[in-house]
Amino acid sequence: MEDKVIEKLKILADAAKYDVSCSSSGGKRKNENKGLGNAEGMGICHSYTEDGRCVSLLKILLTNFCIYDCSYCVTRKSNDIKRAAFTVQEVVDLTINFYRRNYIEGLFLSSGIFKDADYTMERLVRVAKKLRQEHKFNGYIHLKTIPGASEELIKEAGLYADRLSVNIELPSEQSLQQLAPEKNYKEILVPMGSIKDQLVQAKEESRLFKGAPVFAPAGQSTQLIVGASAETDKQILQLSDQLYKNYSLKRVYYSGYVPVSSDSRLPIIMEPPIIRENRIYQADWLMRFYGFNVQEILDEHHPNLDLDVDPKLAWALRNRYFFPLEINTADYEMILRVPGIGVKSAQKIVSARRFAPLQFEHLRQMGVVLKRAKYFITCNTKSMLRQELDSLHIRNKILFGEGSKRSALLTQQLDLFKQVG
Ligand code: SF4
Repeated sequence: MEDKVIEKLKILADAAKYDVSCSSSGGKRKNENKGLGNAEGMGICHSYTEDGRCVSLLKILLTNFCIYDCSYCVTRKSNDIKRAAFTVQEVVDLTINFYRRNYIEGLFLSSGIFKDADYTMERLVRVAKKLRQEHKFNGYIHLKTIPGASEELIKEAGLYADRLSVNIELPSEQSLQQLAPEKNYKEILVPMGSIKDQLVQAKEESRLFKGAPVFAPAGQSTQLIVGASAETDKQILQLSDQLYKNYSLKRVYYSGYVPVSSDSRLPIIMEPPIIRENRIYQADWLMRFYGFNVQEILDEHHPNLDLDVDPKLAWALRNRYFFPLEINTADYEMILRVPGIGVKSAQKIVSARRFAPLQFEHLRQMGVVLKRAKYFITCNTKSMLRQELDSLHIRNKILFGEGSKRSALLTQQLDLFKQVG
């Protein structure tokens, strides 16, 4: 590989690492015609290591030149950083080259905006088109959609890409105006709406006509930055909820704000809010797979997630009147809400109890985490607890009780003192 390309790769792979909105879940592009590659539906991770080794997706920017100056972005035009731009052919060659060497299973391609949205989008589309048409590449392709790009280009992008994403970045129009004044919500939501319409249309056509062209079969996703602006977790999750419902998003990705440039409009933080990001992911999961709505997870008295306990446990502790739940008779939907019981265990419980009443030992064998669940369930009216406990006691026992991570940490700290003494 030429030195010039390696240098560009270093710069543009590094610049792409702040975008977390890539994942290939759900993509199925079979190699049916002596082409190159085969995208599997699941399990492709999305990281690019600095030494170029064993990455599933080649995650790069086409360029880190940008005409915009979004305050939170390392690529913003006022940042004094090394800039580079790939040609379309260079990205195609790199992808094919890495694919053949088994380094990657696909490409995640984003870009700063050079000249204007259409000029940039047209190049992103050309990369995907060349890969698909000239190289018969059947690996996974995730293309970033540039806000403000024309509908025609977005339509064309969906013909070649498995997934498209438009990053909304900030959780409110007000924050966008403050931190990225050159952007607006309309320019972001219009392409999202257009992708959704195309997805619906393509699905309809595929039902009617065999061989109808596919459009972004792995759907669309977006990214929200957490902690660069003042929105509460409730506001963030409400926005995600609307995006899932109104734009059929496959995933909303959350990225804890990483302080990469100094700007008086940004909060001063030393580290990205990783725990907050993790809790928001857990709450998002509850909304998508556990039947929770935002109002149940957070309300006006609790606008932010508890950082110490996961949102399902926090909900259960606030709503003790639902518990204890008799595991042999409770509805599936309620069993799902018991801390320590996941989707698989809940399914196993409902199916197994048809044959015989379940005991705690059966639950343990089904993968139920009894050290959490025991505070919220009974089996044949029996409880594992010797006495009734209030929410505060349960919380403390789960956080600091035997076998908890925190109690392990405390023990380690005591051991350290012992050694000193
Ligand atoms: S438009 Fe995108 S790449 Fe350009 S500064 Fe804003 S966030 Fe960064």
